[in-house]
Amino acid sequence: MKTNRSKKIIASVTAVSLLAGTAYEVNRLSAEPTGEKDCEPVSAEGEALATADIQVDIAPLPLSELLSWKQKGGTINDVSCLNRTAVYGIVQVRNVDDIKNAVALAKEEELKISMAGVRHSMGGQAFYKNNLVLDMTQFNQMSLDEENMTITVQSGATWHDIQNFLHPYYAVKAMQSTDIFTVGGSISVNAHGMDHLAGSVGSSIKSMRVMLADGTIVNVSREENPELFSLIVGGYGLFGIILDVDLQIVNNDIYETERQVVSYKDFPEIFENEILPDPNLGLFYGHLSTAKNDTLLDEMIFYKYTKVDIGEAEIPPLGEVSSIALRRFVFNFSKLGDIPMNIKWYLEKNVEPMLESCTVVPRTQAMSEGEACFVSRNEPMHDSVAYIRNNLKKETDILHEYFIPREQFIPFVDELRRIVQEYDVNLLNASVRVIHPEDNFLTYAPAEMYSIVLYINQPVSVEGNEHMAKVTSELIDLTHQVNGRFFLPYQLYYTPEQLEASYPEIKEFFELKKFYDPEGLFTNTWYEKYGK
Ligand SMILES: Cc1cc2nc3c(=O)[nH]c(=O)nc-3n(C[C@H](O)[C@H](O)[C@H](O)COP(=O)(O)OP(=O)(O)OC[C@H]3O[C@@H](n4cnc5c(N)ncnc54)[C@H](O)[C@@H]3O)c2cc1C
Repeated sequence: MKTNRSKKIIASVTAVSLLAGTAYEVNRLSAEPTGEKDCEPVSAEGEALATADIQVDIAPLPLSELLSWKQKGGTINDVSCLNRTAVYGIVQVRNVDDIKNAVALAKEEELKISMAGVRHSMGGQAFYKNNLVLDMTQFNQMSLDEENMTITVQSGATWHDIQNFLHPYYAVKAMQSTDIFTVGGSISVNAHGMDHLAGSVGSSIKSMRVMLADGTIVNVSREENPELFSLIVGGYGLFGIILDVDLQIVNNDIYETERQVVSYKDFPEIFENEILPDPNLGLFYGHLSTAKNDTLLDEMIFYKYTKVDIGEAEIPPLGEVSSIALRRFVFNFSKLGDIPMNIKWYLEKNVEPMLESCTVVPRTQAMSEGEACFVSRNEPMHDSVAYIRNNLKKETDILHEYFIPREQFIPFVDELRRIVQEYDVNLLNASVRVIHPEDNFLTYAPAEMYSIVLYINQPVSVEGNEHMAKVTSELIDLTHQVNGRFFLPYQLYYTPEQLEASYPEIKEFFELKKFYDPEGLFTNTWYEKYGK
């Protein structure tokens, strides 16, 4: 009798503990972040970066009193959370006069300047130790020129703001696949996204106004100051401060959405024969399987958005992505092992299509009753990816991107799979995008390419960093072997030799930097490491 009671008590305690443990874990994995992630430095080198060498004494200077200080002294970090860096201060830029005054203050105080957007570059490209940092995010006015199909935007505007401004009639021509980034940050890396025909942000620029190191403001375009233009696009903020930009816009077309699962081996042929020649295909990208089974980097989901004419239709205002907590939970849960990762891939393949929001409703009866799902162009890109931000202190997610000549896609993916398995990489996402030749000076695409974007989880620890450094180096060497290039807004784990192998024009780029900015007013962690 007694034993039965004890058993019941033990079973109840176990059940309650299990439930409590599960609830705790679900809450931990889905919790809203409490602020920007800012991890403690884990190495002596990191500690040195995070500690100021200069005395910050900003207050009495007349110029500084004109500025709006977000922060005097203190540290800054980027979205990787691994680059805490001590700075002289952060100025919240509101208008061109703030920029002029900040440049004058930097000269007076012999400071260096960095411009920061939303700091999604991951190697300190938006700041440097003891720098005066210009936070551009409130420098975001915009105006529309419908006749010329252009928009003029200040460089701190985000694509999110711009889409809200353009919707429902117009849409952005080229941007990243998510909307969080600033225009200035996007131009400075020459970002690209899910429009497989539009090219990168640089190709949608008509002209820009830029403040140079000597304080003058110049227009740059493919016709006016073309060399500077090609250096500023993809120039990592080293040649001047982008003030405002005239960007081409396009119509906010209606697309019918479609998903298709194929093997990566069939992708190049399908791409050449079906995707590229299809004049109505408006957006296209792929996701490769990250499941830890025989589908790993083999199975591929195509995301296709085909332009359709559905007559009169109702286009609702842009909404935000739904079910953030659930999405965050699935994403963070997938980091915990093989089965969780397999579940995530299963859900993406089989359940996500059912949750898709088909926002555009045709007014014609026949079309509205069909099975088809319609969205407007703005919608797939109007995603602020709130679900990838988290409150998990001891780990972080790191982006990588490799540009691969089209004919090398299959061999590259095969070797990538080998590296992922050999190094037990916690790969969260692997997407495939279409890239065309880009004509900016430090181009990542001298030819027609695919890009492979990887999102990788790591512990915040010395070992976590060392492992990531090794994997990055392997992937960069692999990319070089297939005549590809790697994307530069990410971590700085490559050697100067690897940089030059990928970008043979890098030395000339750094020489031109010294020509246009002889006193080195504009600098950042990337330039200090490779350009000096
Ligand atoms: C989760 C995630 C997803 C991503 N997805 C994509 C993608 O789909 N496609 C893609 O191409 N990239 C992608 N990226 C990379 C991203 O495009 C770059 O990191 C981009 O720089 C982010 O913009 P930002 O506003 O954060 O710029 P920041 O990181 O703040 O700055 C980047 C650079 O721009 C310079 N800069 C900023 N503003 C100005 C200005 N006004 N004048 C001159 N220089 C300036 C900075 O000094 C710095 O060198 C992604 C990154 C992450 C973390």
